[in-house]
Amino acid sequence: MTSSAETLLADFLRYTLASERPASEADARGTCANGARWQWLDDGVLQIEPARAEAATKSVLLSAGIHGDETAPVELLSQHVADIAAGRAALACRLLVVLGNVAAMREARRYLDDDLNRLFGGRHAQAGASAEAPRAAALEMQARRFFAAASDAPHARWHLDMHTAIRASAFEQFALLPYTGAVPSRAMFAWLADARIGCVLIHTEKGTTYSAFTAGTCGATACTLELGKVRPFGQNDLARFANADAAARRLVAGAAPDAHAPPPRVFTVIGQITKQSDAFELHVAADVPNFTPFARGTVLANDGDYRYVVAHDEERIVFPNPSVKPGLRAGLLVVETTDATLGALA
Ligand SMILES: [Zn+2]
Repeated sequence: MTSSAETLLADFLRYTLASERPASEADARGTCANGARWQWLDDGVLQIEPARAEAATKSVLLSAGIHGDETAPVELLSQHVADIAAGRAALACRLLVVLGNVAAMREARRYLDDDLNRLFGGRHAQAGASAEAPRAAALEMQARRFFAAASDAPHARWHLDMHTAIRASAFEQFALLPYTGAVPSRAMFAWLADARIGCVLIHTEKGTTYSAFTAGTCGATACTLELGKVRPFGQNDLARFANADAAARRLVAGAAPDAHAPPPRVFTVIGQITKQSDAFELHVAADVPNFTPFARGTVLANDGDYRYVVAHDEERIVFPNPSVKPGLRAGLLVVETTDATLGALA
């Protein structure tokens, strides 16, 4: 191997941040430990297959850095690649590794023009000259291509999209399950429990996120993971992400999840606060933690004749953001549905 190809696998993050790319077709693929075959497909996009790919029952997409400043999962994923390449981590599935918004990552920014995680499901075609639009299209193409060669068996296709949150949360680590029309799966909840994710939010409408795309279009068992607070590269306390990282490695290694791990609490979206005009007022602190509860009757927002009043005994606010454009969502409201959801898993 050339030294450049060695860096590609040993430090995929550094290789990608340096805008390196293979010098030729022949340099874009190779074989690493235990006969695993790797192929560089695009900036930040790397596929690795075990020596006997036909025996791999699962196809797993692991992504991080869809928001360019969410560095901890990117560092973990890059380390996972290095460990597979060196034979320190097992590989029992077809694996697609995606570092999402590499252009923003190079500038330590969340995004350049548009939030990449709102451009999937074809939404990128309406984004005009946005720097993120071609990246969303490219990542959709790579996901379609990867899963087109995957098994159709139940839960043979996985996508874990790893993020870190901007704001504090009553639950430090939580998962978001995209709406697909299907009941959430026991397989996903077993993985989330294995990762010690304390809380799951279930969407009830179609979204434009990366995981909504892979779930809806590619048939993947998919989620978005919020794993803690944003910090710059090199300043992350990676130990805080150890449980999710270990569970992702078990999934890729074909190991069973811990059957004794406690299940997460579950919250289901029941409404949203919509900004009507520039007169919009949100009556919660700008830095209110995600999943902060409010009691029935609390007025959370008003805008002219519009008011949002808590109608359940308790509703919790998630992702409040009064500075969105009029017409857009300024916050989600969820209620706890743990018993009903865990009792009805498919
Ligand atoms: Zn994010």
